[in-house]
Amino acid sequence: MANDTNYKKDKIGNHALKPETMMMSYGYNPQFSEGSVKPPVFLTSTFAYQTPEEGEESFHIMAGRKPAPEGNVGGLIYSRFNHPNVEIIEDRLSLFEGSESSVICSSGMGAISAILLAYLRPGDVIVQSAPLYGGTETLIRKFLPQFNIQTGEFHNGLDEAGMLSALREAGNKGRVAMVFIESPANPTNSLVDFAALNRVLDVIERETGHRPLSVCDNTLMGPVFQQVVPHGIDMAMYSLTKYVGGHSDLVAGAVCGSRDMLKAVRATRGALGLNLDPHTSWMISRSLETLSIRMQRAADSGRKVAQWIADNPYIKATILHPDFIENDAYQSVYKRQCLGPSSTFSFVLDISKADAFRFINNLSIFKSAVSLGGTESLVCHPGSTTHSGVAPDMRAKFGVTDGLIRLSIGLEHPDDLIVDLDNAFKITFDSTSD
Ligand SMILES: *Cc1c(COP(=O)(O)O)cnc(C)c1O
Repeated sequence: MANDTNYKKDKIGNHALKPETMMMSYGYNPQFSEGSVKPPVFLTSTFAYQTPEEGEESFHIMAGRKPAPEGNVGGLIYSRFNHPNVEIIEDRLSLFEGSESSVICSSGMGAISAILLAYLRPGDVIVQSAPLYGGTETLIRKFLPQFNIQTGEFHNGLDEAGMLSALREAGNKGRVAMVFIESPANPTNSLVDFAALNRVLDVIERETGHRPLSVCDNTLMGPVFQQVVPHGIDMAMYSLTKYVGGHSDLVAGAVCGSRDMLKAVRATRGALGLNLDPHTSWMISRSLETLSIRMQRAADSGRKVAQWIADNPYIKATILHPDFIENDAYQSVYKRQCLGPSSTFSFVLDISKADAFRFINNLSIFKSAVSLGGTESLVCHPGSTTHSGVAPDMRAKFGVTDGLIRLSIGLEHPDDLIVDLDNAFKITFDSTSD
């Protein structure tokens, strides 16, 4: 049947199809489901085998005793391990990230937990860029040490020598098993130079005989504006709750990498019960169809809003948007690694927390909430919310001051967002307007 191969078609002649095109088709064959153009939601916990021999074969594959057939993660057994809706989005996210394989999890934190528990052992050391997403900070600094896993960190991902000395220093505590980074980092949009990190890992491998694994949280820009696996990072991790889900109506996560690398992550997901349910998986398949246009539009609006804030007539503002950060080293890494900015950025005003709160209260379109990457624009005061658990001296060091305000630009018309900001800036900061 011609359709049997069409559903995994990624080329026409020599022309490689783009991810945007394949989001509507790849990995799902309508002929399997009464011709239904869209995949049904497979609301089942278990799958029937045609024969007991087939059941035995599926267990061999699932347990890793036999390799999975080419282009397939293995037979369907039980929905904690695998189900059709999660397989479809694993295939499709891999196309976008440029990785061989993906493992979808029930949240971004679930994805991080699966990575850490798959690859860290008591006595190991994990080195992180700092600061990371609050939940990741808690997991690495508070949870892992209870299992005798020590931590190290570096603060400037553009400083190759600094990263190398941080890894060497961490190596004094034990085997450095993993480097976990976030690039760009929230809320400052700071970057880690992937090529520099890979050179540092080469040096550590020569010195110790062991190459630490590299993991990058790619939630902020990926996969539309940044792919990390093709840049030599071992694993990309996503909170799909943000741009990929994109409508602030679900929680999910993912890990992308080579099939070999993800074997242990997949096994950990099954053992700990971290798989995503069929209905949310189906929602992600719908979100993936519009991911590229949503992120492009949000980025265009984000640039316009950032430009307006930079030029605003009321108060001096420092803009922490990738296109506006004036630092040569930053700009060269940004141009090498990224195809565009995320629509999440911060601006810094020389004001008190009370003034920042007054400003936020004077906005009417922006909703005051944590999270990012949804269709609606959000405003957040990281110092008192997402980063309130970070010690004040650390917050100051990373520039998360009382006057730092983060925006996530959504899909409203940018002119309306700018009018909303203009109004709030005027009421809050223009002394002549009273
Ligand atoms: C939200 C977020 C996470 C955690 O993801 P959940 O889906 O909320 O579990 C991790 N990293 C970053 C950068 C995030 O924004």
